Amino acid sequence: MLFAQVKVGVPKEVKAGERRVALVPEAAKKLVGKGFEVVIEHGAGDEAHLSGAEYQEAGAALGSAADAWAADAVLKVAPPEPSETPRAGGVLIGFLNPLTSPDLVKRLAADRVTAFAMEAIPRTSRAQSMDALSSQAVVAGYRATLAGAQALGKFFPMLTTAAGTVRPARVLVLGAGVAGLQAIATSKRLGAMVEAYDVRPAVKEEVQSLGAKFIQIEVQQDGEGSGSGEYAKEVSEDIQRRQQQLLADRVAAADVVITTAAVPGRPAPRLVSAEMVRGMRPGSVVVDLAAETGGNCELTAPGSVTVKEGVTIDATLNLPSQMPLHASLLYANNVVNLLTHLAPEGELALDWDDEITAGAAVTHDGEIVNERVKESIGAAGLQADQPVAGGP
Ligand code: NAD
Repeated sequence: MLFAQVKVGVPKEVKAGERRVALVPEAAKKLVGKGFEVVIEHGAGDEAHLSGAEYQEAGAALGSAADAWAADAVLKVAPPEPSETPRAGGVLIGFLNPLTSPDLVKRLAADRVTAFAMEAIPRTSRAQSMDALSSQAVVAGYRATLAGAQALGKFFPMLTTAAGTVRPARVLVLGAGVAGLQAIATSKRLGAMVEAYDVRPAVKEEVQSLGAKFIQIEVQQDGEGSGSGEYAKEVSEDIQRRQQQLLADRVAAADVVITTAAVPGRPAPRLVSAEMVRGMRPGSVVVDLAAETGGNCELTAPGSVTVKEGVTIDATLNLPSQMPLHASLLYANNVVNLLTHLAPEGELALDWDDEITAGAAVTHDGEIVNERVKESIGAAGLQADQPVAGGP
């Protein structure tokens, strides 16, 4: 597929509560410098406090939603709503939830859209600069910590004042992947005493290098649960039960528990039971980042902040949207890096032997081209009313 000069469109996000934008002016400038033509829908950056004038100064044109959607390559944050359609034969790049959105995937294939899902970017060092799940998890880990500190009726740091001394808050982080490590770092910066647990022992050094204590739980057999590379495997029910027993007293001792445990394509592992929440001091806080996939805490109500047994359980979704400027800036860099990977000379030249291009592609030329998505669509086809579990 070749275009003379690739026209890139950036529509305003329409999903309720979505405040990010797929391109910030700085990133638009990079694309213009590489020979792309960029059109931004009027008001697309408003929620992220980015004005049309800034985009124009960066060399982008402003246009209508129709202008943005008619571009050769459309850059989005949230998956398109039914009313949003890229042009036939065009390229779409954005979060697409392809494993849980069979209707969208089928529609994109039927419309002959070449769609790339940012969730499906391989987590390899070569693709690191395009890894939007990671860039947004950094924002989420940071915001989750601030939410925990905000809901707690205590200081995070130790304070020695004329009116007395207060002890530092105790923060427990469960899952030390991208979001978890950022939650640890942010809690440490705020002065809390931090301990963390992850099923992958390989993260112990990273946790300790941030000044936190790593909780060692000797429950693994033959490396079960540790997975390979950057992602964990799902652990057996028996191991989950033993983890819970061992974690119960750590949870009870914590003022704030931030849970971030995730296994790709699977419902979130249950690490904090209702019983464990009952064991926490009233006024304590659980921030559950895994709410989107069911939650790490049994009492999590996805999308809500609730108080159970005197404990605040914060399961707010889409935390990156609460910090739209920097979340958009990082996301835009990921998207620009992917687009310039797909079109190194300013013209789209898709190399299907390349693991990033092939890994992130969901639909092309009227077909679903991603094997995992094909499998999940098959499952959805068999059980039309059942949602497909997990995300990439
Ligand atoms: P990640 O894959 O980098 O980290 C997840 C970590 O959980 C891994 O280190 C893994 O080893 C660990 N883990 C898996 N099973 C475990 C278990 N049983 N016990 C302990 N640890 C276990 O993922 P991430 O990018 O850091 O994202 C973490 C979670 O945050 C995901 O659920 C993601 O969807 C969510 N998230 C939420 C928001 C939001 O706004 N609410 C935003 C971004 C990410």
